[in-house]
Amino acid sequence: MFVENVDPQISVLIGKERLRQMEGLEMIPSENYASKAVLEALGSVFNNKYSEGYPRKRYYGGNEFVDEMEELAISRAKQLFGAEHVNVQPYSGSPANLAVYFAFLKPGDKFMGLTLSHGGHLTHGHPVNFSGMLYQPVPYSVDPKTELLDYEAIRKLAQQEKPKFILSGYTAYPRAVDFRQFKEIGEEVGAISFADISHIAGLCAAGVHENPVPYFDVVTTTTHKTLRGPRGAVIMCKEVHAKALDKAVFPGLQGGPHDHANAAKAVAFQEALQPSFKEYAKQIVKNSRALADELMAQGFRLVAGGTDTHLLLVDLRNKNVSGKEAELVLEGVGVYCNKNTVPYDPRPPMDPSGIRLGTPALTTRGMKESEMKEVGRIIAKAVASKDDTAAKKRLREDVRSLCKDFLFY
Ligand SMILES: *Cc1c(COP(=O)(O)O)cnc(C)c1O
Repeated sequence: MFVENVDPQISVLIGKERLRQMEGLEMIPSENYASKAVLEALGSVFNNKYSEGYPRKRYYGGNEFVDEMEELAISRAKQLFGAEHVNVQPYSGSPANLAVYFAFLKPGDKFMGLTLSHGGHLTHGHPVNFSGMLYQPVPYSVDPKTELLDYEAIRKLAQQEKPKFILSGYTAYPRAVDFRQFKEIGEEVGAISFADISHIAGLCAAGVHENPVPYFDVVTTTTHKTLRGPRGAVIMCKEVHAKALDKAVFPGLQGGPHDHANAAKAVAFQEALQPSFKEYAKQIVKNSRALADELMAQGFRLVAGGTDTHLLLVDLRNKNVSGKEAELVLEGVGVYCNKNTVPYDPRPPMDPSGIRLGTPALTTRGMKESEMKEVGRIIAKAVASKDDTAAKKRLREDVRSLCKDFLFY
């Protein structure tokens, strides 16, 4: 029986969501379109299995094929990132990070992470998150003028505070991260090097962004962002930390692994090992640079002056529109993005000064630089016509017709 027969209401909603995804421009930088192969593995009979433990050491019978599948997922992730040890079981990015805290810190221990309003993630020490409640975060900031990471300031703070680990890798930082600097600073102060490459993992795997995995103590990443896999995460680390991290994931935090998700991770890693994925990752960055150029030509100010990655942060203060208004107007014309703080934002987080845009999903659809110019013009026009219903209607049609040439599902 298919969903259509069993549950027409959900079936209709799935259909509507598919149409929304195809008729709009998905520009939330953490989103992507997973392949049909990934979705097929995700909807497979591996969903039905319980397999607490690790390959060849399970607490349940009947795991011979799960073991083979998980071993394949692990060996492909190792090859893709040059990792010594990989755990593919974390349910998602936040639980993966929680496992790292659990493995390396005791409650009250100090660590450093980038403040959320400058591009860090909730799990990097925000006061409303476990990471800020159970431990003692020492937040670092970007430079107020350049809006870039200031490695000398980070080094000074680390020398002063002596954190257990220094967390790098971000949610809303448009420029390249110098992971080697973080590694050096960590060595100088005796801190563990920990990167969360959730956003840029696809770029790291393809060699388009510096990949910290071979020389960092521990690296976490989600599998559903630029990596284009199922929702989920992996932890990669040096062999010396393998036992502690595996124990933190299971039995420390999780029960049975999501075998269907792990099968889909294996498929995504296989796809990412193909030469075409390198081209894809290169095109993501070319596209975000083309979009950045067009937006700047249209008078937008970009945080940190542009991008080296898949994402850009637009500061809307000179456009007399808030991030929240812009998100809403763009949604109305079929362009999906999210409101976002800019560094040192004078406005509140629920209605900040900026929006965050990304190119991974559009690049998956096959769009290139010339389409990015068009998208940049549409965004500029939409923001300028926030009170002009007729203009917005025309823009909605422009978006639809652009999307028609780039169907994915
Ligand atoms: C997306 C993200 C996460 C969290 O992932 P979830 O799967 O949403 O829990 C963690 N860290 C960073 C840097 C992220 O961008």
